Amino acid sequence: MNINKIIISDIPASYYAGKKVFVRIDFNVPNLEIDPDPPRIRRAIPTIDYLTSRKAKVILASHLGRPKNKPDPKFSLKPIAMRLAEILKANVNFVGSCIGDKVNQTIRNMKNGDVLLLENLRFHEGEEACDEKFSSELASLADIYVNDAFGTSHRKHASTYGMARHFEYRLAGFLVQGELEHMTKIREGPERPFAVVVGGVKIKDKLEALRHLIDKADKVLVGGCVAYTFLASKGVSVGDSLVEQESISWASEVLSKQGHKVILPQDHIVSTNADDVKSIRLVLGEIPKSLKGFDIGRDAAKGYTTELATGNRTILWNGPMGLFEKEQFSHGTIDVARSVALAYHRGCTTIMGGGDSIAALRVAGVSEREVTHISTGGSASLAYIGGEELPGISILNDKSVMEPSLTEA
Ligand code: ADP
Ligand code: MG
Repeated sequence: MNINKIIISDIPASYYAGKKVFVRIDFNVPNLEIDPDPPRIRRAIPTIDYLTSRKAKVILASHLGRPKNKPDPKFSLKPIAMRLAEILKANVNFVGSCIGDKVNQTIRNMKNGDVLLLENLRFHEGEEACDEKFSSELASLADIYVNDAFGTSHRKHASTYGMARHFEYRLAGFLVQGELEHMTKIREGPERPFAVVVGGVKIKDKLEALRHLIDKADKVLVGGCVAYTFLASKGVSVGDSLVEQESISWASEVLSKQGHKVILPQDHIVSTNADDVKSIRLVLGEIPKSLKGFDIGRDAAKGYTTELATGNRTILWNGPMGLFEKEQFSHGTIDVARSVALAYHRGCTTIMGGGDSIAALRVAGVSEREVTHISTGGSASLAYIGGEELPGISILNDKSVMEPSLTEA
């Protein structure tokens, strides 16, 4: 599938020598301990290698987690810089900020082919606010802008959108290219039946995407906290389960528009809290007060397994069915992961994404080779396949407007 964005390899290789290239990558790796070799790091390597071997000065920037707009050592990218250096077998410079004097000085000292990783972009409130001053400060660091962070492209942030506007050359990296190539076909016409599985905790993102995606899907199987928000919107009691009040109206909108496509869990694994093993039980229907749902129940898991393993031609999965990091709440997610793998072996095109969902594959003992395409983006892939414009992609140069001087080899 041809995509209409300029890729880093579309411009002459000689153009990069000595240029400072800002690469917005997605190193939002939630847990290096659970997953020491995360695909999000591995898959950034082709772009980094391409640029360093063409003697660019490569400046990498990412967010990690949700720090509260200020520095927090818990969310530092320093361990990732160390991991990246091990993978690249090369030195990776790290500065404890993403703008300011120290960053400017480090960049001045960079040699051609060097790699620098900046500190977490979300330590500054300007990032998520897409603040103009912060965007220009970031833009002042480099000559060329590259987006290789597909998973963040659905957000209009300073590093994904605001700063890109300042560059003449704003290009797609190889990871973004691969994602667009795999997903554009499904966005334009999925083979049917097309099943979508949604779970996890980022309720707002996922419900927002579902509002569009529901029109394309033949059925949507819901788990995780997204399910409790749907159930709450129908007036079903979900006890103390995590529900996002502000997204309830979107859940109702989806149900009133295409409710017949939405499959919700009818039973739940509940507990008073995630650590209280003694109070874990299975409930059918309503969840009593003071109990929280932490996984879909056995009947739901059985039903989802049957829905997924047979008959579909396309499956898109984002978001675990429960708090799978704890063994006692991992069964729904494991069943779904194995069913998606089985569907793949039966010829179904399967796409899955989301940092935590990818980590869940490992827990389920499903290999990455048992999925047609593993997207680095969760909510971004739901939004893209649903037909939405992703700001971080729209802002990149279109091939149709490529400068003739840049196409000459
Ligand atoms: P992804 O990273 O795949 O896009 P999310 O970030 O939205 O998915 O959600 C993943 C997280 O959701 C996991 O850490 C998982 O433990 C959590 N989760 C799923 N279901 C529940 C639940 N019922 N209660 C609490 N946490 C849950
Ligand atoms: Mg996540």
